[in-house]
Amino acid sequence: ELPTIYAITPTYSRPVQKAELTRLANTFRQVAQLHWILVEDAAARSELVSRFLARAGLPCTHLHVPTPRRYKRPGLPRATEQRNAGLAWLRQRHRHQQQRAQPGVLFFADDDNTYSLELFQEMRTTRKVSVWPVGLVGGRRYERPLVENGKVVGWYTGWRADRPFAIDMAGFAVSLQVILSNPKAVFKRRGSQPGMQESDFLKQITTVEELEPKANNCTKVLVWHTRTEKVNLANEPKYHLDTVKIEV
Ligand code: UDP
Ligand code: MN
Repeated sequence: ELPTIYAITPTYSRPVQKAELTRLANTFRQVAQLHWILVEDAAARSELVSRFLARAGLPCTHLHVPTPRRYKRPGLPRATEQRNAGLAWLRQRHRHQQQRAQPGVLFFADDDNTYSLELFQEMRTTRKVSVWPVGLVGGRRYERPLVENGKVVGWYTGWRADRPFAIDMAGFAVSLQVILSNPKAVFKRRGSQPGMQESDFLKQITTVEELEPKANNCTKVLVWHTRTEKVNLANEPKYHLDTVKIEV
């Protein structure tokens, strides 16, 4: 049987949210044995996301946790609490299988990125921690792990090359077994500098030498760190509102 892929997606309310989630669900629906863990950055589960998931036709878990207001600032990492809530749920669900977990792979899927279907085939065979290139990130066309003789030996990056793991959130997957046998590994707020979330997390569970290169020795871009333009709502009416209330 195929290892289950657990995708943890932090998401927050904004005009493009439903469009992003629609695109993501359309991708995920084509992936066998995928379990979507959607974590809303909110004090409660929203109607919009609840209704959306009910019709999405995907195995999913709907969580929520609000980001404390003090952390909602430019320059601070996003979605720390949401990813940790996903991790906690996963550990709780498998709490009786510390020794020998059923085969599974975890990966962090932001709601605005673009994922090829091939990416899921690649990550499915993750034994401990696997890595691959990410397109359109770090001020470059792509960043990637540098591979020699099947081992990661460094990073092709244009930004903070001193990072122990110079990789975006979309550039790695972790086996369920590794998540369960490192129960304390979480994303940190305290002491975490911008762009160090991935390194801070990966440091807790693996080493560079141990990483498993995917995507043809990290020479293929199968995921893109796309970002959606902020929508222009300058012409939203202040009065003469539409006669019906429409969810967008
Ligand atoms: N996100 C969130 N709360 C926020 C901002 C972002 O939950 O206040 C989520 C967002 O939906 C996405 C992830 O965190 O899934 C990363 O955010 P974003 O895509 O804005 O980050 P960037 O692309 O700039 O790294
Ligand atoms: Mn993004």
